[in-house]
This record gives sequence, structure tokens and C-alpha cells, in this order.
Amino acid sequence: MIRLAIVSPCYNEEAVLHESASRLSALFDDLIAKRKISDDSFVLYVNDGSRDQTWPIIQRLHESNRFICGLNLTHNVGHQNAIMAGMMTARHHADAVVTIDADLQDDITAIEQMVDKYEAGSDIVYGVKISREGDSFIKRSTALLFYRIQSSMGVKAVYNHADFRLLSKRALDELSLYRERNLYLRGLMPMMGFPSDTVDDVISPRFAGSSKYTLSKMLRLATDGITSFSTKPITLIIGLGAVGMCFSLLMLVYVLVSWISGHVVPGWSSIMLSVWFIGSALILSIGVVGEYIGKIYIEVKQRPLYTVEEVLGLPQESA
Ligand code: UDP
Ligand code: MG
Repeated sequence: MIRLAIVSPCYNEEAVLHESASRLSALFDDLIAKRKISDDSFVLYVNDGSRDQTWPIIQRLHESNRFICGLNLTHNVGHQNAIMAGMMTARHHADAVVTIDADLQDDITAIEQMVDKYEAGSDIVYGVKISREGDSFIKRSTALLFYRIQSSMGVKAVYNHADFRLLSKRALDELSLYRERNLYLRGLMPMMGFPSDTVDDVISPRFAGSSKYTLSKMLRLATDGITSFSTKPITLIIGLGAVGMCFSLLMLVYVLVSWISGHVVPGWSSIMLSVWFIGSALILSIGVVGEYIGKIYIEVKQRPLYTVEEVLGLPQESA
């Protein structure tokens, strides 16, 4: 029987915590009764610098519920880093870790299958969304568009998988060796090359509270998902520049020919248009290159991903 840890990041989740804890404890009771997980398995809620009552609620849940443990971060470090903090803390106390969002939009019944697949020899078990009915139309379509762009840029990631997955202790130890700061966990998983499998995940709507992923956080994640793994955008810019060069040479020939033949080049507006277009293409290209330089800047500083303030009630470290 394995000692299972469920790691769940929470940012201003006071509205969902009680329900989330009771659903996960019921799942634990069931899995313990079926002798699939040991009875010192635990749920680790990571408080990612919430400004509401999230941490006091986790503390109270810990007092009244033996499965609930807590990890309090000193400030908000974002979803990916909060998951990393939880996994890196839990890996010393568990045989496998399942990460799931605190709002339980993912299908928690899939956790039992994840454990089965772990027992069958998989180190990584991905929850793959087979239905996203619970997500809004905009979220669904932008996510699918993003997965397409990402794979066309050569980034290997499991299609329609977010951060609902099981990792074995061996995979977590390996993950701890990846020292990068611009974390995009989904892209790192296939890189480790461990045996993996998938389970189906049906997304439901949030049962309380609202999304904590602001548009800017989502754009940040999407940018990291591409620029942390692929330099293809820079290659594309070089290609774009080369095509532009050829085009301007043709323009030069055209201007010379019309000058020699005595025709004045008319069309102020077309010149203005191309000046603006080329100008903005240049700025955009510099921006993309700048994005990579910014990344290098962040990476070389080697700052810690998160800072732990307090840990509540983890079971003994496993050997
Ligand atoms: N989250 C976090 N830090 C943040 C933003 C979000 O830990 O800065 C957590 C949040 O509490 C939730 C999970 O990440 O458990 C996913 O967020 P949310 O459900 O709001 O995103 P959505 O499902 O709408 O994409
Ligand atoms: Mg959610």
C-alpha cells in the first residue's frame, strides 16, 4: 500500500476549502477501506500568499481532520511555483503525489485509477481532459488554440493535460534536479522520460468562488509554456526579416524602374502604411528577443522559487 499525498495550491480559496477537504477526506476513507493507500496518507494544502481567510481555515481543518496538512508560503508565487513548493515538501513524506486544484474542477474519482496505474509501474500518470464542459467557451477555445501553437513550436506536452497528475517519488526526486525559475511543469514532465500513462478527466464548473487565474497570469503561463522550451519564435522572426528584405529589394527595383521611366511614385498612404507595419514588426521582434533575454536574466539569478513560512502536521519522513 502506498502513502499518498494530494497537493493542492490555494490562492484566496476560502469559499471552496471546507467542501474540498470533505470531498478529499471521503475519497481517502474510501481508498483506505479498499486498501489502496495507507492510512497516513495526507492532503497538503499550499497557501500561496492568500489575502483572505484561507490559511486560518487550513489551520482549523488540520485540527479537526487528521488527513489535512498545510504549507504556508510567505507571499504569492503563482500556481506553478505553489505546486512545486507542495510537491517538494511532500516528496519526503509520501510514495507518490497527486496535484489537483483546490476548486476540484478535475474529476477526483480519477485519483483511484492514478494509484492503480502507479501500482502497475507508471511514474507519471496524466489526467487528460476528455470533456471541458465545466470551462467557459472562451477558456476552452483559447486553451485548445494554445495547445496547437505550442505543439507547432515543437514543445512536447501531453495534449489537453493541465496540472492534474500523479508523480512517483522517483519522478519527484528527478524533478527536483530541474533548476529552472520560469516553471512550466507540463513541459518538464515528458522530458524526464519515465514510464507514464493517462487517465480520463472530466472538468466540472467551480462549485464556489471565482477563477484565480487572471488574464495576465494566463498569458504569462502561455508565454512560459513556449519560450521556456523552444527558440522557434526567434527563428521565425529571422525568417520574417529575410522575407521582408527580399520584399524591400523588389520595392527598390520597382522604384528605380519607375524613376528611370519618368513616373513619380504616388501614394502617401501606402508609404505610411508600410512604415507603420515595418515599424511595428520590428518592435514586436525586438520584444520576442527581449522575452528570451528577460528569461536568461531571471534564470541566472537562481533565486528560490518560493519561501516557506510554516508547515503543519506532515507525517514522518519516509525512508
Ligand atoms: N492558484 C494559486 N496561485 C495563484 C493563482 C491560482 O495557487 O496565483 C491556485 C488556485 O487557488 C487554484 C488553482 O491554482 O487552486 C487553479 O486556479 P483557478 O481554479 O482559479 O484557475 P482556472 O481553473 O480558472 O484556470
Ligand atoms: Mg479552477
